Amino acid sequence: MKRLLAFGLAAALLLGGCGAPKTQQAPTQKQQQTDTATTDTTANQDGLQVVTSFYPIYILTLNITDGVEGVSVTNMTQPQTGCLHDYELTSEDMKTLEGADVFLINGLGMESFLPDVQKQYPTLFIGDTSKGAYVLEAEDDHMQDDVPNAHIWLDPQNAIRQTEVIRDTLSQKDPAHATQYAANADAFAQSLSGVLEQTQTLRQRPESNVALFHEGFDYLAEICNLDTSAEIYAEENQEPSAREMAEAAEDIREDRVQILLCAEDNGKKYADTLAAETGARVIVLDPLTSGEATKDAYRLGMEENLRILSEALGQ
Ligand SMILES: [Zn+2]
Repeated sequence: MKRLLAFGLAAALLLGGCGAPKTQQAPTQKQQQTDTATTDTTANQDGLQVVTSFYPIYILTLNITDGVEGVSVTNMTQPQTGCLHDYELTSEDMKTLEGADVFLINGLGMESFLPDVQKQYPTLFIGDTSKGAYVLEAEDDHMQDDVPNAHIWLDPQNAIRQTEVIRDTLSQKDPAHATQYAANADAFAQSLSGVLEQTQTLRQRPESNVALFHEGFDYLAEICNLDTSAEIYAEENQEPSAREMAEAAEDIREDRVQILLCAEDNGKKYADTLAAETGARVIVLDPLTSGEATKDAYRLGMEENLRILSEALGQ
Protein backbone atom coordinates (compact mmCIF):
# COMPACT_ATOMS: atom_id res chain seq x y z
CA MET A 1 0.00 0.00 0.00
CA LYS A 2 2.99 2.27 -0.12
CA ARG A 3 1.92 4.24 -3.13
CA LEU A 4 -1.28 5.16 -1.38
CA LEU A 5 0.52 7.25 1.14
CA ALA A 6 1.18 9.84 -1.51
CA PHE A 7 -2.49 10.73 -1.56
CA GLY A 8 -4.44 13.47 0.00
CA LEU A 9 -2.83 16.68 -1.08
CA ALA A 10 -5.01 18.15 -3.80
CA ALA A 11 -7.64 18.94 -1.29
CA ALA A 12 -6.55 21.87 0.72
CA LEU A 13 -7.68 24.59 -1.64
CA LEU A 14 -11.34 23.75 -1.65
CA LEU A 15 -13.87 25.22 0.65
CA GLY A 16 -12.08 25.84 3.91
CA GLY A 17 -15.10 26.34 6.07
CA CYS A 18 -15.42 24.82 9.45
CA GLY A 19 -12.23 23.08 10.28
CA ALA A 20 -12.58 20.48 12.96
CA PRO A 21 -10.00 18.89 15.17
CA LYS A 22 -7.46 17.38 12.86
CA THR A 23 -6.31 14.41 14.80
CA GLN A 24 -5.47 11.78 12.28
CA GLN A 25 -4.43 8.92 14.48
CA ALA A 26 -4.82 5.40 13.27
CA PRO A 27 -8.48 4.48 13.12
CA THR A 28 -9.55 2.16 15.86
CA GLN A 29 -13.31 2.32 15.86
CA LYS A 30 -13.96 0.89 12.45
CA GLN A 31 -16.63 -1.66 12.18
CA GLN A 32 -15.00 -3.33 9.25
CA GLN A 33 -15.06 -6.92 10.27
CA THR A 34 -13.85 -8.82 7.28
CA ASP A 35 -10.55 -8.83 5.59
CA THR A 36 -11.58 -9.97 2.19
CA ALA A 37 -9.88 -7.18 0.28
CA THR A 38 -11.51 -7.88 -3.02
CA THR A 39 -10.70 -5.41 -5.72
CA ASP A 40 -13.80 -5.71 -7.86
CA THR A 41 -16.98 -3.88 -6.99
CA THR A 42 -19.45 -6.72 -7.09
CA ALA A 43 -20.97 -7.61 -3.77
CA ASN A 44 -18.71 -9.69 -1.62
CA GLN A 45 -19.87 -13.17 -0.82
CA ASP A 46 -20.36 -12.19 2.77
CA GLY A 47 -22.77 -9.40 1.95
CA LEU A 48 -22.83 -5.79 0.89
CA GLN A 49 -19.94 -3.72 2.22
CA VAL A 50 -20.99 -0.10 2.49
CA VAL A 51 -18.47 2.58 3.35
CA THR A 52 -19.49 6.12 4.29
CA SER A 53 -17.19 9.12 4.12
CA PHE A 54 -17.96 10.79 7.43
CA TYR A 55 -20.26 10.97 10.41
CA PRO A 56 -23.50 12.50 9.12
CA ILE A 57 -23.57 10.20 6.09
CA TYR A 58 -22.79 7.27 8.37
CA ILE A 59 -25.75 8.05 10.65
CA LEU A 60 -28.14 8.53 7.73
CA THR A 61 -26.95 5.25 6.25
CA LEU A 62 -27.48 3.41 9.55
CA ASN A 63 -31.12 4.44 9.25
CA ILE A 64 -31.50 3.05 5.74
CA THR A 65 -29.70 -0.24 6.45
CA ASP A 66 -31.36 -0.80 9.81
CA GLY A 67 -32.33 -4.46 10.17
CA VAL A 68 -31.22 -5.38 6.65
CA GLU A 69 -29.34 -8.65 6.77
CA GLY A 70 -25.90 -9.08 5.29
CA VAL A 71 -25.11 -5.39 5.02
CA SER A 72 -22.18 -3.92 6.88
CA VAL A 73 -21.66 -0.18 7.19
CA THR A 74 -18.21 1.20 7.89
CA ASN A 75 -17.49 4.84 8.48
CA MET A 76 -14.19 5.59 6.78
CA THR A 77 -13.26 8.38 9.17
CA GLN A 78 -13.27 8.57 12.93
CA PRO A 79 -16.52 9.84 14.48
CA GLN A 80 -14.71 12.87 15.88
CA THR A 81 -13.11 13.85 12.58
CA GLY A 82 -15.64 16.57 11.86
CA CYS A 83 -15.98 18.01 8.37
CA LEU A 84 -13.74 16.65 5.66
CA HIS A 85 -12.86 19.93 3.92
CA ASP A 86 -9.15 19.47 4.48
CA TYR A 87 -9.08 15.80 5.25
CA GLU A 88 -6.14 13.81 4.03
CA LEU A 89 -6.70 10.18 3.16
CA THR A 90 -4.71 7.64 5.10
CA SER A 91 -3.49 4.32 3.76
CA GLU A 92 -5.95 2.78 6.20
CA ASP A 93 -8.79 4.67 4.50
CA MET A 94 -7.70 3.37 1.13
CA LYS A 95 -7.68 -0.15 2.50
CA THR A 96 -11.22 0.37 3.79
CA LEU A 97 -12.33 1.56 0.36
CA GLU A 98 -10.64 -1.35 -1.32
CA GLY A 99 -13.11 -3.71 0.31
CA ALA A 100 -16.15 -1.53 -0.38
CA ASP A 101 -19.02 -2.32 -2.72
CA VAL A 102 -20.48 1.15 -2.31
CA PHE A 103 -18.97 4.43 -1.12
CA LEU A 104 -21.56 6.92 0.11
CA ILE A 105 -20.46 10.53 0.21
CA ASN A 106 -21.90 13.91 1.09
CA GLY A 107 -20.77 15.48 -2.17
CA LEU A 108 -20.49 19.17 -3.10
CA GLY A 109 -16.76 19.09 -2.53
CA MET A 110 -16.93 17.95 1.09
CA GLU A 111 -14.84 14.93 0.11
CA SER A 112 -12.10 16.98 -1.50
CA PHE A 113 -10.02 13.84 -1.81
CA LEU A 114 -12.57 12.20 -4.11
CA PRO A 115 -10.50 12.51 -7.31
CA ASP A 116 -7.76 10.49 -5.62
CA VAL A 117 -10.23 7.78 -4.69
CA GLN A 118 -11.66 7.65 -8.19
CA LYS A 119 -8.22 7.43 -9.68
CA GLN A 120 -7.22 4.59 -7.41
CA TYR A 121 -10.54 2.71 -7.65
CA PRO A 122 -12.10 3.70 -10.96
CA THR A 123 -14.85 1.10 -10.66
CA LEU A 124 -15.85 1.91 -7.08
CA PHE A 125 -19.60 2.55 -6.95
CA ILE A 126 -20.09 6.01 -5.47
CA GLY A 127 -23.38 7.38 -4.19
CA ASP A 128 -23.40 11.18 -4.02
CA THR A 129 -26.09 12.01 -1.46
CA SER A 130 -26.20 15.69 -2.41
CA LYS A 131 -28.11 14.84 -5.57
CA GLY A 132 -31.45 16.55 -5.21
CA ALA A 133 -30.49 18.58 -2.15
CA TYR A 134 -31.41 22.21 -1.67
CA VAL A 135 -28.01 23.87 -1.70
CA LEU A 136 -27.06 27.28 -0.34
CA GLU A 137 -24.14 29.22 -1.66
CA ALA A 138 -21.14 29.49 0.59
CA GLU A 139 -20.21 32.94 1.80
CA ASP A 140 -16.62 33.04 0.86
CA ASP A 141 -14.79 36.25 0.08
CA HIS A 142 -11.69 34.46 -1.09
CA MET A 143 -13.37 32.63 -3.93
CA GLN A 144 -14.17 34.22 -7.22
CA ASP A 145 -16.71 31.63 -8.23
CA ASP A 146 -19.84 30.53 -6.52
CA VAL A 147 -19.07 27.75 -4.13
CA PRO A 148 -21.75 25.47 -2.70
CA ASN A 149 -22.21 25.31 1.04
CA ALA A 150 -21.69 21.58 1.52
CA HIS A 151 -23.29 21.34 4.99
CA ILE A 152 -26.61 20.29 3.52
CA TRP A 153 -27.54 17.76 6.24
CA LEU A 154 -28.31 20.61 8.63
CA ASP A 155 -31.52 21.15 6.72
CA PRO A 156 -33.69 18.19 7.76
CA GLN A 157 -35.46 18.18 4.40
CA ASN A 158 -32.06 17.71 2.84
CA ALA A 159 -31.25 14.89 5.25
CA ILE A 160 -34.42 13.19 4.02
CA ARG A 161 -33.39 13.72 0.40
CA GLN A 162 -29.97 12.33 1.22
CA THR A 163 -31.50 9.16 2.68
CA GLU A 164 -33.51 8.82 -0.54
CA VAL A 165 -30.28 8.81 -2.53
CA ILE A 166 -28.85 6.27 -0.09
CA ARG A 167 -31.98 4.14 -0.52
CA ASP A 168 -31.73 4.29 -4.31
CA THR A 169 -27.99 3.66 -4.38
CA LEU A 170 -28.20 0.63 -2.10
CA SER A 171 -31.25 -0.72 -3.93
CA GLN A 172 -29.36 -0.55 -7.18
CA LYS A 173 -26.46 -2.50 -5.73
CA ASP A 174 -28.59 -4.84 -3.62
CA PRO A 175 -32.04 -5.09 -5.26
CA ALA A 176 -33.00 -8.07 -3.11
CA HIS A 177 -33.43 -5.69 -0.15
CA ALA A 178 -34.97 -2.76 -2.04
CA THR A 179 -38.27 -3.04 -0.18
CA GLN A 180 -36.54 -2.83 3.17
CA TYR A 181 -34.45 0.13 2.12
CA ALA A 182 -37.60 1.88 0.96
CA ALA A 183 -39.44 1.16 4.19
CA ASN A 184 -36.48 2.43 6.20
CA ALA A 185 -36.32 5.63 4.16
CA ASP A 186 -40.02 6.20 4.81
CA ALA A 187 -39.50 5.53 8.50
CA PHE A 188 -36.64 8.01 8.64
CA ALA A 189 -38.70 10.74 6.98
CA GLN A 190 -41.52 9.96 9.38
CA SER A 191 -39.16 10.16 12.36
CA LEU A 192 -38.29 13.72 11.42
CA SER A 193 -41.86 14.97 11.45
CA GLY A 194 -41.35 16.44 14.92
CA VAL A 195 -38.20 18.21 13.75
CA LEU A 196 -40.02 19.65 10.76
CA GLU A 197 -42.78 20.87 13.04
CA GLN A 198 -40.17 22.56 15.26
CA THR A 199 -38.75 24.42 12.26
CA GLN A 200 -42.25 25.40 11.19
CA THR A 201 -42.89 26.93 14.61
CA LEU A 202 -39.57 28.75 14.55
CA ARG A 203 -40.35 30.17 11.13
CA GLN A 204 -43.53 31.75 12.39
CA ARG A 205 -41.87 33.88 15.02
CA PRO A 206 -40.92 37.48 14.24
CA GLU A 207 -37.70 37.89 12.32
CA SER A 208 -34.47 37.87 14.29
CA ASN A 209 -30.96 38.79 13.39
CA VAL A 210 -28.21 36.38 14.26
CA ALA A 211 -24.46 36.11 13.73
CA LEU A 212 -23.03 32.80 12.56
CA PHE A 213 -19.70 31.25 13.44
CA HIS A 214 -20.10 27.97 11.58
CA GLU A 215 -20.83 27.69 7.90
CA GLY A 216 -23.26 24.84 8.46
CA PHE A 217 -25.51 27.08 10.53
CA ASP A 218 -26.44 28.95 7.37
CA TYR A 219 -28.84 26.06 6.83
CA LEU A 220 -30.31 26.38 10.32
CA ALA A 221 -30.74 30.11 9.80
CA GLU A 222 -32.41 29.47 6.48
CA ILE A 223 -34.90 26.89 7.70
CA CYS A 224 -35.75 28.96 10.77
CA ASN A 225 -36.09 32.20 8.84
CA LEU A 226 -33.34 34.01 10.71
CA ASP A 227 -31.53 36.96 9.19
CA THR A 228 -27.80 36.68 9.22
CA SER A 229 -26.14 39.97 10.12
CA ALA A 230 -22.57 38.80 10.43
CA GLU A 231 -20.58 35.69 9.66
CA ILE A 232 -17.17 34.69 10.92
CA TYR A 233 -15.99 31.36 9.59
CA ALA A 234 -12.58 30.52 10.86
CA GLU A 235 -10.73 28.43 8.38
CA GLU A 236 -7.86 26.11 9.01
CA ASN A 237 -4.88 27.98 10.36
CA GLN A 238 -6.53 31.21 9.44
CA GLU A 239 -7.93 33.49 12.07
CA PRO A 240 -10.32 36.28 11.22
CA SER A 241 -8.45 39.55 10.90
CA ALA A 242 -8.87 42.34 13.41
CA ARG A 243 -10.74 44.24 10.71
CA GLU A 244 -13.16 41.35 10.09
CA MET A 245 -13.83 41.11 13.80
CA ALA A 246 -14.38 44.85 14.07
CA GLU A 247 -16.78 44.81 11.13
CA ALA A 248 -18.67 41.90 12.62
CA ALA A 249 -18.96 43.76 15.93
CA GLU A 250 -20.29 46.77 14.09
CA ASP A 251 -22.88 44.69 12.21
CA ILE A 252 -23.93 42.99 15.43
CA ARG A 253 -24.51 46.33 17.14
CA GLU A 254 -26.17 47.94 14.17
CA ASP A 255 -28.65 45.10 13.62
CA ARG A 256 -29.15 44.64 17.35
CA VAL A 257 -28.17 40.99 17.09
CA GLN A 258 -29.03 39.17 20.28
CA ILE A 259 -27.52 35.77 19.63
CA LEU A 260 -24.30 34.45 18.19
CA LEU A 261 -24.50 30.87 16.93
CA CYS A 262 -21.34 28.81 17.13
CA ALA A 263 -20.18 25.24 17.59
CA GLU A 264 -18.31 24.15 20.68
CA ASP A 265 -15.13 23.34 18.83
CA ASN A 266 -15.51 25.79 16.02
CA GLY A 267 -15.75 29.54 16.14
CA LYS A 268 -16.61 29.72 19.83
CA LYS A 269 -13.63 31.80 20.80
CA TYR A 270 -14.55 34.44 18.23
CA ALA A 271 -18.16 34.35 19.34
CA ASP A 272 -17.03 34.79 22.95
CA THR A 273 -14.88 37.76 22.00
CA LEU A 274 -17.69 39.46 20.11
CA ALA A 275 -20.19 38.67 22.85
CA ALA A 276 -17.97 40.43 25.36
CA GLU A 277 -17.73 43.42 23.05
CA THR A 278 -21.36 43.71 22.06
CA GLY A 279 -23.41 42.19 24.84
CA ALA A 280 -24.93 39.58 22.54
CA ARG A 281 -25.32 36.03 23.82
CA VAL A 282 -23.34 33.02 22.67
CA ILE A 283 -25.47 30.03 21.79
CA VAL A 284 -23.72 26.73 21.14
CA LEU A 285 -25.28 24.41 18.57
CA ASP A 286 -24.18 21.07 17.19
CA PRO A 287 -23.18 20.86 13.52
CA LEU A 288 -23.76 17.11 13.79
CA THR A 289 -20.42 16.25 12.29
CA SER A 290 -19.52 13.98 15.17
CA GLY A 291 -21.23 12.14 17.97
CA GLU A 292 -22.62 8.78 18.90
CA ALA A 293 -22.79 6.01 16.35
CA THR A 294 -26.50 5.35 16.73
CA LYS A 295 -29.17 5.76 14.12
CA ASP A 296 -31.19 8.20 16.20
CA ALA A 297 -28.23 10.56 16.66
CA TYR A 298 -29.21 12.82 13.78
CA ARG A 299 -32.80 13.26 14.89
CA LEU A 300 -31.87 13.78 18.55
CA GLY A 301 -29.14 16.26 17.64
CA MET A 302 -31.43 18.25 15.41
CA GLU A 303 -34.24 18.27 17.98
CA GLU A 304 -31.80 19.58 20.55
CA ASN A 305 -30.47 22.26 18.19
CA LEU A 306 -33.97 23.51 17.47
CA ARG A 307 -34.94 23.39 21.13
CA ILE A 308 -31.91 25.48 22.09
CA LEU A 309 -32.57 27.86 19.23
CA SER A 310 -36.18 28.30 20.11
CA GLU A 311 -35.34 28.95 23.76
CA ALA A 312 -32.64 31.44 22.76
CA LEU A 313 -35.10 33.27 20.55
CA GLY A 314 -37.50 33.48 23.42
CA GLN A 315 -40.17 31.20 22.13
ZN1 LIG B 1 -17.69 22.11 7.47
